Amino acid sequence: MAALRQLGVADAVRDGGAVVRSGEMRRPDGTVLRRFDAASAARLLGEDAYCILRPVLHGRLLDAVGIDALRLGRAVTGFRRDGDEVVVEGEDGVAERARLLVGADGVGSAIRRQLHPDEPPARPSGLFAFRGVAQDAVEHLDGVSGAQYFGRGIEAGIAQASARAVYWYLSVRADHVERHGGAPDPLKVLRRVIAPFHAPFRALIDATEPEDLRFEPLLTRDPLPSWGDGPVTLLGDAAHPMLPHAGQGAAQALEDAVAIGRRAPVDQPVSPRLRDYERVRRARTMTVAAVARRNARMGSVDGALSCSARDLVLRLIPQRVILKALVAMGKPSAAD
Ligand SMILES: Cc1cc2nc3c(=O)[nH]c(=O)nc-3n(C[C@H](O)[C@H](O)[C@H](O)COP(=O)(O)OP(=O)(O)OC[C@H]3O[C@@H](n4cnc5c(N)ncnc54)[C@H](O)[C@@H]3O)c2cc1C
Repeated sequence: MAALRQLGVADAVRDGGAVVRSGEMRRPDGTVLRRFDAASAARLLGEDAYCILRPVLHGRLLDAVGIDALRLGRAVTGFRRDGDEVVVEGEDGVAERARLLVGADGVGSAIRRQLHPDEPPARPSGLFAFRGVAQDAVEHLDGVSGAQYFGRGIEAGIAQASARAVYWYLSVRADHVERHGGAPDPLKVLRRVIAPFHAPFRALIDATEPEDLRFEPLLTRDPLPSWGDGPVTLLGDAAHPMLPHAGQGAAQALEDAVAIGRRAPVDQPVSPRLRDYERVRRARTMTVAAVARRNARMGSVDGALSCSARDLVLRLIPQRVILKALVAMGKPSAAD
């Protein structure tokens, strides 16, 4: 929200999402491990936290920039340097000259591949994710904004995402996917994995239309020692893909966008400013990615003993420790 405010679209985005006011950490059977009131975090951050669906957020951003700013349906294959400028090459053979190229082309980035040809491709993390949106289903939330479930080798969550829609996700270890039928039949896996979950969670999945459901392996990459070169840089998952267990991938991409915008006055040489952007953003996103990895480890422990220990920590960890971690994640440094 802080990044969206800097971009001048926070108020437009608020209407499309749902503010996070309260949450619960639960066992899959619904037993509450801990309750969380988001008001103290919002006070410390100076912003409410929102859950918003990607198409709605994209719509609000599109309203702000205007459709004429985009050229859609054209894959970029690479680029070549020409003095201080860069020529971006498209699969349709059309090349475009620019002073600056920002590769924001996701975890399989073609721009990153050209900048770092020796880097191996993204690799499987050992986790798979189901996610979906249940329309007209807020009654299954039982009055909370959201909840996280911690089971054996499984973490799941639900969150109100608009006046009527509920977003849900489930992260599951690859060996569980295999045990329950394997990746070729994800619906069978999902049915089996959620069998022990309590009724509201299953009701949300039942209320999800097939076109609102996704299943994918979660990929990972080691951080790059440097991101860009000359007038070319990277942003978002292209620069720093991270596991979704901190709920921060898209948020960090927005922070990147603000940080680049601040450093790109048209009358100044571009390269040193991009290197400064990369230095600051690399440090911040490595910290957030490490939190996401730690959360993923915590949410995928499998042994009965380790799960009991994890649940005990979730019950007993002081509220101030959770708040400190949330504030550290929610507030980029002034240098960003
Ligand atoms: C299960 C799951 C849950 C998540 N939950 C959250 C969450 O709660 N909060 C959060 O902040 N983040 C979350 N994320 C992460 C978030 O989805 C990503 O971090 C975010 O989408 C990254 O945005 P991006 O613009 O960098 O890349 P992308 O969203 O991947 O967009 C890249 C774009 O580039 C286009 N493209 C790719 N190649 C080319 C090419 N060669 N030429 C032209 N265009 C190209 C693609 O079509 C795409 O439109 C989650 C991710 C997953 C997998």
